[in-house]
Amino acid sequence: MGLADLHMHTIYSYDGTASVPAVLTRARQIGLDVIAITDHDEIAGSLKALELAPKYGLEVIPAIEITTAEGDLLALNITEKIQRGLPLIETVLKVGEQGGFCIAPHPMAGGFGMKSLSAYSILRALRNAEVAQILIGIETYNATAIDRMSNHYARILGNRLNLAQTASSDAHVVEAIGLGATEFDGHTAQHLIAALQNGDVQQRKQKEWNSVRIIGSWAANYVGSAFTRLANAA
Ligand SMILES: [Zn+2]
Repeated sequence: MGLADLHMHTIYSYDGTASVPAVLTRARQIGLDVIAITDHDEIAGSLKALELAPKYGLEVIPAIEITTAEGDLLALNITEKIQRGLPLIETVLKVGEQGGFCIAPHPMAGGFGMKSLSAYSILRALRNAEVAQILIGIETYNATAIDRMSNHYARILGNRLNLAQTASSDAHVVEAIGLGATEFDGHTAQHLIAALQNGDVQQRKQKEWNSVRIIGSWAANYVGSAFTRLANAA
């Protein structure tokens, strides 16, 4: 079985704290086969990871977390940024034009400035046959969502939909990578994409972090990451 974490952030996100090499090192250490770096409305870190990945012995699917008008959306297997603030259906179709696919992350989760897709938005979008070919996954386990009930609601919705159910970390600090992960037959990104298209994946869950730990670790790391950001910007 292969193991993938398809939702995590780096310093290329306004709220991430980890550098791309630190993410790749950690992902390798904990035995992930495939990862996707999904910075908010920014793809530069993901493309850098794609370039560096062979040195680390793992595969990267280039990706982005897009702020749509209706909430966050993970877009994978694309290499160009997509405009934020568009309606969900229009955004998904743009991802499809690039040959990519989408996963609805932390559906219905709120709190801490988080904007998530509602069940209504997801169901309405899936009625569009073209969208249903592209929006193939729903994240029903998010290891670091501050809204503690959201995984429960996401699972109820996911069980009623014909979508692949993924587990992800949504890590904003390096130690959180892999706390939620998705198992699939095979080891490569291609195997994983095929498994997602068939809805044939399993969730691997580590213990969820509580909100004190999520915010505490983020704050501690954020200060340190300021120096890396400055060095990167120079
Ligand atoms: Zn995220």
